[in-house]
Amino acid sequence: MSAALSFDDLKSRASTLRFHNKAFIGGTYVDAASGKAFDCVNPATGRVLTKVAECDKEDVNRAVKAARSAFDKGHWSRMAPAQRKKRLQKFADLIDSHSTELALLETLDMGKPIRDSSKIDIPLSAGCIRWYGEAIDKIYDEIAPTGAEAVSLIRREPLGVVAAVVPWNFPLLMASWKIGPVLAAGNSIIVKPAEQSPLTAIRIAELAMEAGIPEGVFNVVPGFGETAGQALGRHMDVDAVTFTGSAEVGKFFLRYAGESNMKRVSLECGGKTPNIVLADAPDLDAAATAAAWGIFFNQGEVCNAGSRLIVEDSIKDRVLDKVMEVGKTLQPGDPLDPGTKMGAIVDQTQMERILGYIEAGKKEGAKLRMGGSRVRTANDGGFYIEPTVFDQVDNRMKIAQEEIFGPVLSTISVKDADEAIRVGNDTIYGLAAAVWTRDINKAFKVAGALRAGVVWVNCFDHGDISSPFGGFKQSGFGRDKSLHALDKYTELKTIWIHVGG
Ligand code: NAP
Ligand code: MG
Repeated sequence: MSAALSFDDLKSRASTLRFHNKAFIGGTYVDAASGKAFDCVNPATGRVLTKVAECDKEDVNRAVKAARSAFDKGHWSRMAPAQRKKRLQKFADLIDSHSTELALLETLDMGKPIRDSSKIDIPLSAGCIRWYGEAIDKIYDEIAPTGAEAVSLIRREPLGVVAAVVPWNFPLLMASWKIGPVLAAGNSIIVKPAEQSPLTAIRIAELAMEAGIPEGVFNVVPGFGETAGQALGRHMDVDAVTFTGSAEVGKFFLRYAGESNMKRVSLECGGKTPNIVLADAPDLDAAATAAAWGIFFNQGEVCNAGSRLIVEDSIKDRVLDKVMEVGKTLQPGDPLDPGTKMGAIVDQTQMERILGYIEAGKKEGAKLRMGGSRVRTANDGGFYIEPTVFDQVDNRMKIAQEEIFGPVLSTISVKDADEAIRVGNDTIYGLAAAVWTRDINKAFKVAGALRAGVVWVNCFDHGDISSPFGGFKQSGFGRDKSLHALDKYTELKTIWIHVGG
């Protein structure tokens, strides 16, 4: 495991790493039909790691053809669930046994600390695929209570070809939340990784084959959203798109589906999570520490980042002091250093976007209490931003309404729980929320009133694969994780059998 490796070991392994950089279609690595390739950049240094096949419509057509043909042959789609289980378990085992390589790829590609990619991203990705493999031979279909004249079988059938279009913040993990249930249900999949972070999805394609997942069932088309992503969204033979990314692009997929074949669309979009700390929180230091990690973890590039700290007036200063104390210990550093807790921002565009929000916050009159600038490190071409804390934020300000996707906390004071609920819900998003209180009645009241797909009580960002994740409102619809995810990748079929006599 990379966790046990030193900085020097990791640097030396990184320098000899081989990058798989082609598309994976029909069971083999192939160049883009156009021959084009795009730069894959290490955000820690700003330097090019490799060039990756730039897929567009023609490659997508080939991938859909391969995926459809595999589906129709039935080697996977009609395979006994117990057999699919074995292969998915092997796939998960292979991800685990390649965890050092995959963690290095993830860290080099998108800038997250190696301690996170090795301890969180890669093991949770393997765990997710394994969990759906283990589940799939334990799920029964139904027989409806129709009476003696008929037997009505309610069966779940795979959809066919599912496209997974995913973001760069947890590249392999977000892909795995799709890959696990899509494959377990018997579908073929085409993964379109984000242009910023294609390397792990490409790498695991070979592991899928090695695990015995038949050719054409698992495909990867790296490329840009407007070309490869759009071609998947508009394809007449793609049965569903499962998307994680911004709300803006999520809406494009609804349009693509409406203008093509009415494919099923499920969307996991952004958030503006209210983290509500009430004066009767059981442990203010714990709440503040969780608030700091909740916004600075993964450089703030987290869909459910606790970007709005909504705190009762009477305890605000105490909480904020502790948040800043913790924030100071999370200064960005080289992502390959096992001691680094905050890494590089994914690319220059995102870094500039975050800095633009920081300027907007200052202009609108929020008080900058900590950070606010780009950081120069030893890797002087890299994209690093300090942990940043604003106080005296009004919920109508841009930094309170728009998803920044960076290490920028907006602190909003409220007078009581009712105001916290009102402010908490006053956003277009509804992905996640948290409330800290020792009063069980208040906890239930606030959790019930917050319009969000997950509400944490006296903790932040907890969960596991058994519990659904996804949004209300413009955070999207459909749920990843848990058995509910299978609903997105199966159709219900009623087979009504008349019983004569
Ligand atoms: P993004 O810009 O929406 O991109 C997501 C994916 O969509 C990428 O693969 C992207 O390709 C593709 N895409 C972009 N434009 C497209 C278009 N016109 N047509 C079709 N596909 C297109 O999001 P991101 O910047 O990668 O990730 C950050 C966002 O993801 C944030 O809003 C965050 O909240 C959200 N997110 C949500 C969750 C969740 O579970 N709710 C989890 C993680 C992240 P390119 O690489 O070319 O842009
Ligand atoms: Mg990259």
